[in-house]
Amino acid sequence: MLHAEDMALPELAAEYGTPVYVYSRRTLTDSWRQFARVFEGTAHQVCYAVKANGRLALLQELAKFGAGFDIVSGGELARVLRAGGDPKRVVFSGVGKREDEMQHALDAGIGCFNVESEAELRRLDELALARKLRAPVALRVNPDVEANTHPHIATGHGSAKFGIELAQAETVALKAALLRGVQLQGLACHIGSQITKIEPFRQTARRLADLADRLRARGLVLKHLDFGGGYPVRYRNEVLPDLQALLGELRTLAEARGLALRIEPGRAVMAPAGLLLTRVEYVKASAHGRFLIVDTGMTELIRPALYDAWHDIREVAPQPGAVTGPCDVVGPVCESADILGRERQLAAGPGDLLAVMDTGAYGASMASNYNARPRAAEVLVDGAHAAVIRRRETLDDLMAPEDLL
Ligand SMILES: *Cc1c(COP(=O)(O)O)cnc(C)c1O
Repeated sequence: MLHAEDMALPELAAEYGTPVYVYSRRTLTDSWRQFARVFEGTAHQVCYAVKANGRLALLQELAKFGAGFDIVSGGELARVLRAGGDPKRVVFSGVGKREDEMQHALDAGIGCFNVESEAELRRLDELALARKLRAPVALRVNPDVEANTHPHIATGHGSAKFGIELAQAETVALKAALLRGVQLQGLACHIGSQITKIEPFRQTARRLADLADRLRARGLVLKHLDFGGGYPVRYRNEVLPDLQALLGELRTLAEARGLALRIEPGRAVMAPAGLLLTRVEYVKASAHGRFLIVDTGMTELIRPALYDAWHDIREVAPQPGAVTGPCDVVGPVCESADILGRERQLAAGPGDLLAVMDTGAYGASMASNYNARPRAAEVLVDGAHAAVIRRRETLDDLMAPEDLL
């Protein structure tokens, strides 16, 4: 029988219904600590990437640990502030920051704008000057490194839309130093997500540190290096790099230059802390195989459809002697891509519960209402206690913003 901490999953299903996202406070704490611990004793900020999962109660837990936050929109800033996050520990990334979002962030007094183009730098300068402020800025550079991850989640190769080309970064930095509305404080990068090899991280970090050296040689004063996120999770059988060793190398690079260090992990903090609990509705056999049709799908978890992502799917209460065999676990959504797992060995029939594992990151945060499906409930477990942190949406929630003519 599967549990989330000390709570049996069938109890949670009975209490809150399915599908339901179940998060573990203990796992979240542990995965957060693996990042924070390595940097003890050195000037640093671990900025959790809110887009991985921005639920208020989860942000609130992280804020209590002293987390910083990496945001990519005004909406994410609003979430961080409501959850009690410290604006001074917020970094604002993203290629398309709107004026109103920048204003909101300036007024809140965030810690750093990670600027991704010269045009953005000029806009920020003007907005800050109009407020008689000086906006703290880091230049996000595109280090032109292949991350060897799924093409949809690689962001640091030459043709990606993210960051300032390395070849232009020096010029842009020198221009930034002349603007009175911004204060250049650091350099940033982020080359993608679920990067399972150490070399792309290393290459990027070295390129960023080299650029910092060149800028300092030209008289610019820098305070920090932000190495971004992208730290991988073991979804299946991936061989992961030694995270502690990698983080240690980043620490050394920054310390050798007397610079503070920032990182922006999202997935690795949140993915292991969540599972998606679902119930089998039907079993359908065909000439091609067996389908387990469950009550969740790409509306709650789009990663398999979008990235061919693999999530372990487990029987919650395996029945001794039940028929097992390869089956495709599919959702009810009217799309052929609505498949959670192919050819899984599962012994489950109608009414049985399944757990889709490691879905804390990029699960609920990418959910949609497609097919007029209300978003699932979300529950945070702490020992033998569970609390709803987002109630299940109702049909009225879905239709509330709409008007009949
Ligand atoms: C998405 C993102 C992250 C987090 O990436 P993970 O792979 O979840 O660690 C960090 N920084 C930036 C700028 C991002 O866009």
